Amino acid sequence: MFFEKNNYENEEAIFEKAGVPFIYPYYRETKDAVDQAINNSLPQTIALNDIKGIIHNHSNWSDGINTIDELADNLIKNNFEYLVMSDHSKTAAYANGLSEERIKEQHIYIDKLNQKLAPFKIFKSIESDILNDGNLDYSDEVLSSFDLVIASVHSNLYMSEEKAMQRLMKAIENRYTTILGHPTGRLLLSRNGYPINHEKIIDACVANHVVIEINANPHRLDLDWSWIPYALEKDVLLSINPDAHSIEGFYDIKYGVLAAQKGGLTAQRNLSSFNLEEFEDYLKKTKAAKNI
Ligand SMILES: [Zn+2]
Ligand SMILES: [Zn+2]
Repeated sequence: MFFEKNNYENEEAIFEKAGVPFIYPYYRETKDAVDQAINNSLPQTIALNDIKGIIHNHSNWSDGINTIDELADNLIKNNFEYLVMSDHSKTAAYANGLSEERIKEQHIYIDKLNQKLAPFKIFKSIESDILNDGNLDYSDEVLSSFDLVIASVHSNLYMSEEKAMQRLMKAIENRYTTILGHPTGRLLLSRNGYPINHEKIIDACVANHVVIEINANPHRLDLDWSWIPYALEKDVLLSINPDAHSIEGFYDIKYGVLAAQKGGLTAQRNLSSFNLEEFEDYLKKTKAAKNI
């Protein structure tokens, strides 16, 4: 016979025989997992039902398909506590990015919806383009009108590490940046990300109270899971976000969770696992820490 039948009934029995606590298949990527298992310090990794709010979404105000009402209704039905609306910013004209005038209109619209939908809450956000010089594409006055700001690179993606780092570091140091969106801009199977020094980016995010996104779109999965252990060691907050452009896009969250499990991310270190109260508290405290 090509394969000898082994004497084990299942995987648990193999671990038991070896005297090592069971390690879930998704966490068998590094040797550290075995050491952690032996020391009984395996992380309590995040699960899909740890996600409490859906951060980083596009509506039909920019290049999304659904209305904000439809997005919110779907999340309420599925017991989520909040929605972070972050349509494209004005530089992303190809995606119908929001002018300053339309931002004001959207905020009035969200205020009205929030009155109707409480205790569910829609947060006012934007996916602000990181320009070629590292600045965000609105004035401080406009940036201060959002509950939180996601800063992402969408233009001039083919650049040296030096240029990419200069742009990202400036965006991270911008006190209005709450979350760094898809940090390398990669599209799996079609576009390599621009080169970055991951350690320096993670260190800078810690120093500037910036959360790093784990973009859950299966074409992105960016930050790559392999950087999660370093991120956790430095105590940076990560956030599994779907970057949804439709209701269907919400379901991408599961790919982000699966990728994050490989890196040992816990719910405590994932911003989108914060409940509404914890999330609001986090925004308040970071704003205070950044003097805004
Ligand atoms: Zn983006
Ligand atoms: Zn986006």
